[in-house]
Amino acid sequence: MISSYVVSLSNKSSLFLNGSRRLHLLNKNAYINGQWVSAGSKAVFPVINPADDKVITEVPDMEAADAKTAVDAASSAFKTWKNTTAKERSNILRKWFDVCAKNTDYLAQIITAESGKPLAESKGEIAYGNSFLEWFADTARHINGEVVPSPWPNKMIMLTRQPLGVVSVITPWNFPFAMITRKVGALMAAGCTCVIKPAEDTPLTALAAAQLAEEAGVPKGVINVVTSSRKNAPAIGKVLCEDPNVGCISFTGSTHVGKILYGMASKGIKRVSLELGGNAPFIVFPSADIEHAAEHAMLAKFRNNGQACVGANRFLIHKDVFEAFVQAFKKRIAKGCVLGPGTKEGVTCGPLINTEQSKKVAGLVEDAISKGAKALIGGKPALDIGSKFYESTILTDVKPEMKIYAEEIFGPVAVCHMFETEQEVVTIANSTRSGLGSYVFTKDLGQAFRMSRQLDFGMVAINDGILSAAEPAFGGIKESGIGREGSKHGVEEYTDIKYTLFSALDK
Ligand code: NAP
Repeated sequence: MISSYVVSLSNKSSLFLNGSRRLHLLNKNAYINGQWVSAGSKAVFPVINPADDKVITEVPDMEAADAKTAVDAASSAFKTWKNTTAKERSNILRKWFDVCAKNTDYLAQIITAESGKPLAESKGEIAYGNSFLEWFADTARHINGEVVPSPWPNKMIMLTRQPLGVVSVITPWNFPFAMITRKVGALMAAGCTCVIKPAEDTPLTALAAAQLAEEAGVPKGVINVVTSSRKNAPAIGKVLCEDPNVGCISFTGSTHVGKILYGMASKGIKRVSLELGGNAPFIVFPSADIEHAAEHAMLAKFRNNGQACVGANRFLIHKDVFEAFVQAFKKRIAKGCVLGPGTKEGVTCGPLINTEQSKKVAGLVEDAISKGAKALIGGKPALDIGSKFYESTILTDVKPEMKIYAEEIFGPVAVCHMFETEQEVVTIANSTRSGLGSYVFTKDLGQAFRMSRQLDFGMVAINDGILSAAEPAFGGIKESGIGREGSKHGVEEYTDIKYTLFSALDK
C-alpha cells in the first residue's frame, strides 16, 4: 500500500497515485480561523479511496474542543462579515465561483478519489455545486426588506432581514462539494459565517473548497472546516448544535441523524434547515413515452450509483407497460452501466462509499431474493472489481414483507412494482414518511397536474429524471426535512425578519 502513494509532509501535500498522477488541492490539515491546523489531540484518521481501499491521506480527527474553537472563530468573524455590504459579499462569492471553475479538474479528482464517483460525474458535481456560488453571488444583492403600510398615523413599519449568526454546516459524503456550496453560498450571501463538519468519508473535498475560498479572498473565520472520524461526530455535533454562539444548524444527511440534531437544536431554540433522506417514487403511466422514461430512469437511479437522496427508490409501473418498461430499462443498464474505478475511461458506475453501505445494499437484495423477488439483471456484489462494487440491478416481484420494499436503498438497485389505477399508485407513492423527490411519466396533461397536486413530496418532476439546479427550491416535507435550498428562498433559511417601528414622526 505504502509504495502506491506518497504524501508530502506539508499541509498542501501532493499525492502520487501509483507514482504517476498528482492530486492538487489535497490538504491534510483542518481549517480554522484562516489557519491550517491539526487536532488539539494531534490525532488523525485515514481517508480511504473506496475504489481500491487504499489510504489517500490522513486528516485531523478533531474533537469537541476543536469544534468549540471553530465556533468561536466563526463568531468573531461574524462581527465584521455581517457589516460588509451586499455588493462586497456578492463579489467574494463570485470570485470563489471563478476559482472553483478554474480548478474543476483538480476538485473533480479529489471527489473521485474519496467518494469513488466517475470523473465525469465529479466534474458534473463541480458544475452543479458551483452554480450555487454563482446564484447566491447574485442573490446576495436582492435580500430586500419591506416598508409595510402602517395602521397608525405618524408611524412607519420597516421589516429588514438580519443574518442569523454562526451556522453549523453538517454534510454527507454523496455530494461532498455541492452539499457545501448549496449551504455556504446562501449563508455567506445572507451575512452569516460557518463551521463545516464534512462526512468522515469525504473531508478532502471540503478542505479543497476551503482552500479555494481562501484564494478567492474569503476573510479568515468566515468559513471553518472541522474534520473528524465517525466516532467523534456525536461530540462535535453536540457543540455545533448547542453552543450559544450558533444561530442555525444546516444539515444534510440521514433522517435518523437529522432527528438527533433537531432534538439538540431545540434546547437552544436554534433555527434548523434539514435536508434528509428520500424514498422517491418513479411512476410510469400507459400514455408515457416508454423509451424516454427508461432513459430518464437511468439518470434517476444510477446517478452517483444510486447514492442520491432524490434517487428513484421505487419504480411504480402501470401493468399495461410494465414488461415494455423493464425490458427497455434492462437493455440500457446492460449497455450503459459500466462498473469500475472512477478514474478509468468509460466507467459510469463507481463503488459504494464504504463497507457499511455495501453490506446494507447486499443485505437488502439477499433478503428480497430469499423471499421470492427476482433479479432481472445484476443482483450480487461485483467483488472481482473491488470490495465495494455492486452490480447494477433490477428486482421484480417485490412484496411488502421484504425489507427493500420500504427502505431508502441508496445503491444501484431498481425495485419495480406493477400498479393498475391512478388512485392506487398515489396511495402506494404516498405511503411513506419520506417526501423529498418524485417522478411521473405521462403524456396526459390533466393527469400530470393531478399528480403534481396529489403526491405528498416537496418536489415532483414530470417526464424528467433530474430535477436539481440552483434556481428551484430544493427540499422535502414530512421526515425528509425542513426548509429549502437554492432559489430565492435559500437565503431566507439564514435570516431573521427584524421589525423596526419608527414612531412620533410628527414630533
Ligand atoms: P449521515 O450518516 O446522516 O451523515 C451525514 C453527516 O452527519 C456526516 O457528516 C456525519 O458524519 C454526520 N453525523 C453523523 N452522526 C452525527 C451526530 N450525532 N452529530 C453530528 N453529526 C453527525 O448520512 P450519510 O450516510 O452521510 O448520507 C446519506 C443520507 O443523506 C441519505 O439518507 C440521503 O438521503 C441523505 N441526503 C439527503 C440530501 C437532501 O438534500 N435531502 C442530500 C444528500 C443526502 P460522519 O460521516 O463522520 O458520521
